[in-house]
Amino acid sequence: MTDDSGRKKLDWVRAHMPILQKIEDDVSVRRPFAGIKAAVCIHLEAKTGRLCEVLAAGGAEVYLAGSNPLSTQDDVAAELKHRGIHVFARHGCTPEEYDGYIASLIEAKPDIILDDGGDTVEMLLARYPEQAEHVLGGCEETTTGVSRLVTKAARGELPFPMISVNDALCKCLFDNRYGTGQSVWTGIMQTTNLTVAGKTVVVAGYGWCGKGVANRAKGLGASVIVTEIDPVKALEAYMDGFRVMPMRNALPLGDVFITVTGCTHVIDSKDVGLIKDGAILCNAGHFDVEVDVKGFRKLSTASREVRKNIMEYSFGDKRLYIIAEGRLVNLASGDGHPAEIMDMSFGLQALSAEYLIAHRLSPGVHPVPEEINAQVADLKLGSLGASIDVLTPEQKAYLDS
Ligand code: NAD
Ligand code: SAH
Repeated sequence: MTDDSGRKKLDWVRAHMPILQKIEDDVSVRRPFAGIKAAVCIHLEAKTGRLCEVLAAGGAEVYLAGSNPLSTQDDVAAELKHRGIHVFARHGCTPEEYDGYIASLIEAKPDIILDDGGDTVEMLLARYPEQAEHVLGGCEETTTGVSRLVTKAARGELPFPMISVNDALCKCLFDNRYGTGQSVWTGIMQTTNLTVAGKTVVVAGYGWCGKGVANRAKGLGASVIVTEIDPVKALEAYMDGFRVMPMRNALPLGDVFITVTGCTHVIDSKDVGLIKDGAILCNAGHFDVEVDVKGFRKLSTASREVRKNIMEYSFGDKRLYIIAEGRLVNLASGDGHPAEIMDMSFGLQALSAEYLIAHRLSPGVHPVPEEINAQVADLKLGSLGASIDVLTPEQKAYLDS
């Protein structure tokens, strides 16, 4: 890493995030975020850095923490500090430090919160309830974060509006599916330096992310098995050409396992006897509980790091490998989704944040307004040099009749 590696990473993504560039050009003139303090808790790497720069260009004072201890890139953090963003993060921080960083965001008394996974909102409501009335609202980036908010709202425990960026089609269709599909394999291939072709890959969960991960595995030449709990999703996987079976049946067959469910103990340590010797286990879902890392650690007779980010656990004669401590493999062991994908997700974040400030929504979970989703799709098409047909008056009248 060179001294200016953070600057280079930010410059590289700037050149590949045309939607954010357009939004930045616009907000730096209109300044819709003037006087606003924005707390951003999203994976602290270059793409998130660009989002923060856009908010700052629109007038916001930005406070930034990483949303995962292993995805923070210290060179990017240092460069962002240099550029005037208030940064609270360190790669590989302890759980206590992680909490402390999020507390620092909250203690800055933010007007808006851009959260990824719900940790900031969770802490604000639990430890700083008096601050809730000052929060205009926020945006949530990921599936599990939205589920947490929906649960809170149903219990009457969400006192401000949160926009579910994750559920906008320009987010989940592209970020969760193509972004996770590609970056999970980049992370695994870079970390292991092994082939995918010919291996049996087991993907747990066939939601937005699982579809991407399974289909990219197929493209790389793997034989793919899908496990599911939802019969419709399972059928979809079957019709897409994958073998479908319960995890216990897949455990003896898989060479590489990827969990991406949002659930817990999808690969349980008590089933260690069923798993093939030498199997590689990784997770791409929100929390580090989908692969029961704690349980495997406890049961193992020996453990050692065999390659950067790969732990070998021995159980007598059997060895299993866990990547990145069972945390999101694409972010804890890679740079996460590509810039062109995060350009759409963060375009939605920036435009939704502006909408939130302009509209004073009621408490609860709100969808991204359809016009914002369409605006991001238009900007993306424009950046690709693609265009679409426009209905003629005759066609419009026909469809309306
Ligand atoms: P989703 O709801 O579309 O899909 C989850 C799927 O998992 C569902 O089909 C569900 O039926 C299935 N499932 C649940 N429990 C299961 C179990 N025990 N065994 C097998 N299948 C099970 O959600 P999604 O958008 O695909 O997100 C999945 C997870 O990935 C979430 O935790 C989300 O926050 C996270 N996520 C990660 C990234 C990343 O960059 N790694 C990106 C987006 C989302
Ligand atoms: N707090 C969680 C975060 C959930 S990660 C954790 O424990 O890690 C899932 C989210 O990461 C996705 O919704 C996706 O939009 C986001 N993401 C993926 N790649 C990214 C990248 N390169 N930069 C920033 N965010 C990214």
